Amino acid sequence: MELLPKGTLETIRNAQKIIFLTGAGISNESGIPTFRGEGGLWKNFRAEDLATPEAFQNNPELVWEWYDWRRGICKNAEPNLGHITIAKWQKKSKGIFLITQNVDGLHPRSGSEPIIELHGNIFRARCTNCSTKFHLEQDGLNHDGLKYCQNCESLLRPDIVWFGEEYDQSLLTKSWELCQLSQVVFVIGTSANVSVPAQLALTAIRSGAIGIEINPETTSLSPSMKHHFQGKSGEILPKIWKEVFEEESIG
Ligand code: NAD
Ligand code: ZN
Repeated sequence: MELLPKGTLETIRNAQKIIFLTGAGISNESGIPTFRGEGGLWKNFRAEDLATPEAFQNNPELVWEWYDWRRGICKNAEPNLGHITIAKWQKKSKGIFLITQNVDGLHPRSGSEPIIELHGNIFRARCTNCSTKFHLEQDGLNHDGLKYCQNCESLLRPDIVWFGEEYDQSLLTKSWELCQLSQVVFVIGTSANVSVPAQLALTAIRSGAIGIEINPETTSLSPSMKHHFQGKSGEILPKIWKEVFEEESIG
């Protein structure tokens, strides 16, 4: 059965800019838990109680322990057909942009480019004093527990945008611009609970883009979408690819 009507396929094929906006759901099929889904709790802590500047100030050991555990899961996970389809699309066509809330590094590992990681990356840390950034694996800082700056010896923190923190302004500006200029926005695996990514999707739609959502659940963005596919991104995206490019499915 066809997923997308002819008109939408034409819009996708003729689009100058297409945005893929992804959240934790796209990595679920790779075995990385979302915060709110099954397996999201760690030692009875909620993510909202660990991913904050206050939590780090009160108990940096605990916060690093949680990030070390999550980093281990991300390292052992493999990109799934959702990540792979987006990366392949970006290689095939011009003007395909990926904006992700995910910090797991699976999009870059699947070869996606260009990519805006709005919430940072779990494999990076930055100095609480001099702001120097380190790659935990490449800079030999992948041990468990507290980690210290190789320049000034101050405590390092995960290079993540925590609840209540400001986004990187240059990434945000670039994201707004791209969304305003796009003709199609795919919203994949995000509950739209975090307001900035939801606002980005709505900006694209208000600027004339059609919205296509892939999520097993409906979200607050669903009513604004032209299409909502209630399913897993690793299954739906390859089917959409097949219809757009009239080619064999990636899967
Ligand atoms: P979220 O708010 O983005 O919600 C996850 C969404 O994914 C839900 O709406 C769920 O219905 C949907 N979903 C589940 N399985 C899916 C599938 N197979 N295909 C498509 N959609 C699917 O995520 P959250 O877990 O509530 O996290 C909020 C923030 O925490 C994110 O913005 C992110 O920065 C961070 N986070 C990142 C990761 C990661 O990098 N993988 C994991 C957890 C949390
Ligand atoms: Zn430093």
